[in-house]
Amino acid sequence: MSTLHVANLGYPRIGLRRELKFALESCWSGKTDQASLLETARTLRAQNWLRQKELGVDILPSNDFSLYDHLLDTAFMVGAIPEAYKGASDLDTYFRMARGAGEVSACGHNHTGSVTALEMTKWFNTNYHVLVSELKPSQPFELAHNKPLSDYNEAKGLGHQTRPVLVGPVTFLKQAKAAIGGFNTLSLLPRLLPVYAEVLRSLRDAGAEWVQIDEPVLANAPNGQVALALTEAYAHLAREVPGLKLMLTSYFDAHDANVDLAFSLPVTGVHVDLTVRPDLLERLPELADGKTVSLGVIDGRNIWKTDLNALVARLAPVISQLNDVILAPSCSLLHVPIDLEQEDKLDADLKSWLAFAAQKLHELSVLKAALSGLDVSAELAAKAQAIAARKVSTRIHNAGVADRIARLTPPMSERQSPFAERILKQRKRLNLPLYPTTTIGSFPQTAEVRSARLQHSKGQLSDADYDAFLKAETAKAIAWQEEIGLDALVHGEFERNDMVQYFAEQLEGYAFTQSGWVQSYGSRYVRPPVIFGDVSRPKPMTVDWAVYAQSLTTKVMKGMLTGPVTMLQWAFVRDDLPRSAVCRQIALAIRDEVLDLEAAGIRIIQIDEAAFREGLPIDPAKWDAYLDWAVECFKLSSAGVADETQIHSHMCYSDFNDIIRAIAAMDADVISIETSRSNMELLEAFIDFKYPNEIGPGVYDIHSPRVPEEAEMERLLEKAGQRLKAEQIWVNPDCGLKTRGWAETRPALERMVAAAKALRATH
Ligand code: GLN
Ligand code: ZN
Repeated sequence: MSTLHVANLGYPRIGLRRELKFALESCWSGKTDQASLLETARTLRAQNWLRQKELGVDILPSNDFSLYDHLLDTAFMVGAIPEAYKGASDLDTYFRMARGAGEVSACGHNHTGSVTALEMTKWFNTNYHVLVSELKPSQPFELAHNKPLSDYNEAKGLGHQTRPVLVGPVTFLKQAKAAIGGFNTLSLLPRLLPVYAEVLRSLRDAGAEWVQIDEPVLANAPNGQVALALTEAYAHLAREVPGLKLMLTSYFDAHDANVDLAFSLPVTGVHVDLTVRPDLLERLPELADGKTVSLGVIDGRNIWKTDLNALVARLAPVISQLNDVILAPSCSLLHVPIDLEQEDKLDADLKSWLAFAAQKLHELSVLKAALSGLDVSAELAAKAQAIAARKVSTRIHNAGVADRIARLTPPMSERQSPFAERILKQRKRLNLPLYPTTTIGSFPQTAEVRSARLQHSKGQLSDADYDAFLKAETAKAIAWQEEIGLDALVHGEFERNDMVQYFAEQLEGYAFTQSGWVQSYGSRYVRPPVIFGDVSRPKPMTVDWAVYAQSLTTKVMKGMLTGPVTMLQWAFVRDDLPRSAVCRQIALAIRDEVLDLEAAGIRIIQIDEAAFREGLPIDPAKWDAYLDWAVECFKLSSAGVADETQIHSHMCYSDFNDIIRAIAAMDADVISIETSRSNMELLEAFIDFKYPNEIGPGVYDIHSPRVPEEAEMERLLEKAGQRLKAEQIWVNPDCGLKTRGWAETRPALERMVAAAKALRATH
C-alpha cells in the first residue's frame, strides 16, 4: 500500500477581504508605515497556514506568499537588483522595482532618483502578471534576501512544518529579459546555481525535509537549451545539497518529452498537472521509478467542483502501483478566488457547483480519505448529487441557444462582399477625410463618474438621476469631440463599469461573485464573471446609448461592443462544454447586438478583442486550432451586417506576429492596435503580411499621463505612411482613455487631430 498525502502548491495571498491590497495601498500612499504592512502580511500568512491545515492539507507551502510577485521575490533573493532601484530600505527597493518611483516612493520614503517599474508579462497563459528582470552578461548573483528561510522559520515558529516553494533557477533565467540583443540569459546558470544551493542548504539545515521547486518552463514546447540547463541545474543541486528532497513542479501544459526529462532528473519527486494531461496518469507507474509522484488532479485554474467519484475510480488502480503519492491541485491556487463560503448572495444551485481555493483543498482531503479506504461515502454521494444536478439543470441548458447553434451556416460568418468592394461603399457613405481620427472608446472615468456609479449601486442615486448624469457626461464628451474636430466619434462608455462585466451583466448564462477576487498583478485584483450556462441575449444591451449618442451629432458615432473571445477569455468558463462552443454562443449574442445597432442607424460598429492574443495556448502546435475557432467566432459576431456598415476591432499590446494571419482572417474593415510604445515596430507584422484592410496604429501611449507632442505623433504617422497606403491609415491613441484624466486627454487629442491634419496637408 502506498503512502498518501495532500499537498498544496500555493494559497491565494490577497486575504479574504483583500487585506493585502488595502495594506499595500495605504502604505504606498504614506497613510501607514512599513511595519503595519509587514504585520498584515504576517497575519495573512498565519491565517493561511492555519486554514490549510484545518482543510486537511498535510504538506503546507511556505514562501508562496508575496507582497507583490514571486518572480520579483526571486530576483530579490538572488540579488538581481539594479543599482538605480536601491531605496531607503529593502522594502522600498522592492517596491521601486515593482512600481517604479518618482521623487517620493514606497511608504513615504524620499528619493532623488526616479525609476520606471520593471516590465510585466503574463505568467504563461494565465491572467497573472510577473515582473521581468533584465539581466546583463556580467550579471552578478548573491544571496541577498533569504525570504524562503525567514518564511520557513516563521511557519515553524507557529508550529507548522512546511515545504518551501521556490521558482526554479531555469525558469527564473528563462523568464528574464536579456539586457542586450543576442545574449542568452540561460548562460548565467553557472553563476546562479551556487545561490540556489545556499538557499536550499539553509532550508535543509533549518529542518525542511522537502522543497517545492517550480520549473514551469517544462510547460513550453521541448527545447534543447532548456533541457540542458535543467540537467545541469538539478545535477548541481543534488550534488551540493545532499539530504534535501526536491519536488520538481511544473504545470499548465506538459509535453511527453518534458515529462520524461523531469522524471530523469536527480530529484526525489515530480509533480505533474493531470488536468491538462489526464492521459499521463496511466504512464506514471512506469515513469516514477521509485520517485515520489505528486498528482495535480484538482484544477487550480477553474472554479468548478471536481467529480470526485470519477477521480477515485481513475486514481485507485494507478495509485496501488505507486509507492509514495501526493495529491495536489494542478498548480498554485493563486489563480482562483479564496473561499466560496463568503458568497452569500450566490444562489444555492450555483453555489453547490462551485469550489474556490479552500473548497479545492477540502476536495483533496476527501479524495485522500476515499483512496485510503475510509468511509466518506456520504460526502461522495453529496458531491455526486451536485454534479448530477448541474448536468441536467435547466438553468444551464437553453434549447433556444442549442437550436440556433445547430442551424449555423458558414455564410453567416462571411461578409456579403470582399473588403475591396465593401470599403468603397463605406467610404462613400461615411465620407471621412484621409487619415481619419478616432478614439478607442472610453473617456476618463473621473472621480465623479465612479462616485455616481457607486451611489447608484447603493441606492443613494435614483435610476433617473443616474441616467441624467450619464447623459450629460456623454453629451459633453460628444460636443467636445466635435469641437476639436475628431472624425469618428464615441459616446465615451461612461455607463460601463468594465468592458466585460457591463455586457456579462446583461447576458443570460453569466453569474457574478461578491468576493471572487483573483490577483492580476501586485495590488490589482480582478473579479472575473462566471459563465455557468448557455449564453444568450434577452434584449438589446447598448442600442439606447448608441442611438442617444448619434442623435447629438451629425458626425458618425461608433457603436462599441466587446468581442466574443474577450468575453470568454476574461471569465471563469464552464467546464462541461469546449471553450469554442461557449465562445460561439457569446458570438451569437454579440451578433444580435451588432444587427440591432445597424438597424438603429449606427454606421460604424467596433468589436473590441483586447484578449485575442492571450487565448493562444502555450504549445504552438495548438495555436491553429484555437485561432480557427477564435476567428470564426469574431466573424460570426460581426459578419451579419451590410457592406456599407463598417466593422472595427481593437487589440491591445500583443505580439502581432503570432496572430497576423488570424487578424487578417477576422476581416474587420478597420483594426486599431497598440503600437506607440514600440515606436511602430509592432506594425511590422502588418506590413510584412501586406495587411489589406484599414488600420489605426496607436500614436500615443495612454498608460502614461504624459501629453505627447504633436510632432512625435506626426513622426509616427509618417513612419506608418512610408510603409502602408495613406488610405489605409487611421489616427487614434493606443487604447481607451478610461484611466486618464481630462487634463491630459484634452491636449493629447487636440494635438493628435492637429497631427492628422498636418499629414493630410502633405497629400
Ligand atoms: N473600448 C474599450 C475602451 O476604450 C477598449 C479597451 C480595451 O481594449 N482594453 O476602454
Ligand atoms: Zn486596448
